[in-house]
Amino acid sequence: MINRLVMMLACVSLWLVNVTQAADIKGVRLWRAPDNTRLVFDLSGPIDHKIFQLENPDRLVIDIKQADLKSAFSELTLSNTPINKVRHGKRNGRDLRVVLDLKTAVRPRSFVLKPNETYGDRLVIDLYDRNVKPVVKSAPQVAITSSGRVGRDIVIAVDAGHGGDDPGAIGYRGVREKDVVLQIARRLHQLFSREPGFKSFLIREGDYYVGLRQRTVIARQRRADLFVSIHADAFKNRRANGASVFALSQRGATSETARWLASRENSSDLIGGVGNVSLSDKDATLAGVLLDLSMTATLTSSLEAGGQVLRNMGQISRLHKRHVEQAGFMVLKSPDIPSILVETGFITNPTDGQKLATRSHQENLAQAVFKGLKSYFYQVPPANTYVAQLKHRGPVNGPTRYVIKRGDTLSEIASRHNVSVSSLRARNNLKADRIRVGQILQIPN
Ligand SMILES: [Zn+2]
Repeated sequence: MINRLVMMLACVSLWLVNVTQAADIKGVRLWRAPDNTRLVFDLSGPIDHKIFQLENPDRLVIDIKQADLKSAFSELTLSNTPINKVRHGKRNGRDLRVVLDLKTAVRPRSFVLKPNETYGDRLVIDLYDRNVKPVVKSAPQVAITSSGRVGRDIVIAVDAGHGGDDPGAIGYRGVREKDVVLQIARRLHQLFSREPGFKSFLIREGDYYVGLRQRTVIARQRRADLFVSIHADAFKNRRANGASVFALSQRGATSETARWLASRENSSDLIGGVGNVSLSDKDATLAGVLLDLSMTATLTSSLEAGGQVLRNMGQISRLHKRHVEQAGFMVLKSPDIPSILVETGFITNPTDGQKLATRSHQENLAQAVFKGLKSYFYQVPPANTYVAQLKHRGPVNGPTRYVIKRGDTLSEIASRHNVSVSSLRARNNLKADRIRVGQILQIPN
């Protein structure tokens, strides 16, 4: 009995899935991410496989039971990956052995995926680079204004959903969500990069997959003030359309609080929301209360930021729902970083899908998210930021603009802004006191 059990365990450890069926490898795809390389084998059915590493020279061996190769490895782009060459051969006349000749040793991981709407059975081999330093960034950049005032930039984590072997939703005329959202994310990133008082970074910069939990980890490492994830919706009914904005649900927040408390080492690098209190030296009850407070504050901020984004989205797109929706999405689960998820439209809807693929609409969507987040941060700027300085001390760079409304007079505008009529006239090169509706006046300091 014991011997049999040992035998069985040995089998399980050698052959990760116990299926006995012949399968073909129909295709091989490869993606390079900043810290890993993913190989995906597209299969005709489920397989048994095992992997192991060999040294001098470094190799990774992938053995697949009863399988045939019906695809070529020659088309893979291996530059910039740790793979030098891919070889293959038959063993016992029926099993397939694939050998990756490596330039350097890697930390490999493999798993199989069941069919979904887009793909059939798959074998995924992840090769993690060794000796990669975590992406810990130095302290947030400090902006020094012309008047010498100092305040740090507000940091926005811009997350393009999906990527690599995960195409996201496939829409009208084959438009892929992962491509559309990367375009919008890049534009959003650019808008923040040009905006004084803000800076941003992309969670994924190209066509590769980043784990959901990892996305929030990157945002925390780079000290994001807000996390925004860009997606496009899909639905069986092609008539479903419109944009929506999500924040974490209360239920998701509660279960996440429990999870963070369960792993104390995670909690120690929290909680920005209550003044960088570390939980590691607190007793369980107090830690729980603090974490709960942080989570609640974060959720409130997420809902407010989401509301501002939704308002701006409503000006360029039909809305799917008129309020910020709440769901338990994994990427929204940071206990200390306000996080929202923007569904930019239904990629499966002919009208939405067509628009989503155009540059002009991608730009409009990026602009709407940008304006929404900007106005949110001008309402409640984090302390010590340039935006907080601007808000509390008034503009520091040059004059304010004022757009003339019906019934305005020059003297009224002057007194309202605490300036003289003559300075107002001089600043705007006005010969007389005549002004017109819609005219823009510069208000001198
Ligand atoms: Zn998505």
